[in-house]
Amino acid sequence: GLKKNGMEIRVDIALNPLHEQNELYVACSILDITEKITTAELALNLERENLRLAQLAQRDPLTQAYNRRTMEELFPKIAEECKRQNRSVSTIMLDVDNFKIFNDSYGHQTGDQLLKELAYIAQNHIRENDILVRYGGEEFFIIMPNCTPRQASEVADRIRSSLEKDMTSGHKITASLGISTYSFSSDLESADEVLEKLIEQSDQALYQAKDKGRNRFQHFSSI
Ligand code: GH3
Ligand code: MG
Ligand code: MG
Repeated sequence: GLKKNGMEIRVDIALNPLHEQNELYVACSILDITEKITTAELALNLERENLRLAQLAQRDPLTQAYNRRTMEELFPKIAEECKRQNRSVSTIMLDVDNFKIFNDSYGHQTGDQLLKELAYIAQNHIRENDILVRYGGEEFFIIMPNCTPRQASEVADRIRSSLEKDMTSGHKITASLGISTYSFSSDLESADEVLEKLIEQSDQALYQAKDKGRNRFQHFSSI
């Protein structure tokens, strides 16, 4: 529609036939729906914005890895699926070696860039259904559904060796990795308990790897 002042507006036009003493009339009503559309668009924008925020809240802003809260939300679904298929789930706890010294030498910002690149490299060595979590400052936790101890060790070693040689920033860092595997065949534990166990065992294996000299991986089962 066009208003007298030249402004274009959106309108609803309704035509209704009217029979009046054998004559046919058409009643036409024109309704200015500017307000109505604005409200609908606002609702849609709000919905999009909420979705965007929900996706943002799932990840750590620096590395784009999932945060711990998302891990806790996702794990029960993973556990259920592995249980149904009688499969194992393996996890890796990764911790950068001597990162304090790195920060002291090159600065915290360079350290941050390094963590970003580390996450990128780790993500490139895992499968689509695996989950990379920023567990702590310079600690990452990887959950790999349907993954045996042997496969998990292979992934851990590939990440380890890639970090050692593929960092594009020119800085040298290494990491140590602890691995754990849980077999769902005969479990009586809840998903939360399983996750807790995997974290604890991966952490213990990680400490063993540090103890043995760093820049290596260790599976909990062979401690
Ligand atoms: P280790 O080989 O035993 O793991 O030695 P480390 O120095 O890496 O371990 P420690 O736990 O003593 O120190 C971790 C350091 O990581 C402390 C802090 O300087 C650094 N760090 C933790 N989070 C961040 C972060 O988000 N950004 C940066 N740049 N540094 C971080
Ligand atoms: Mg640490
Ligand atoms: Mg460290």
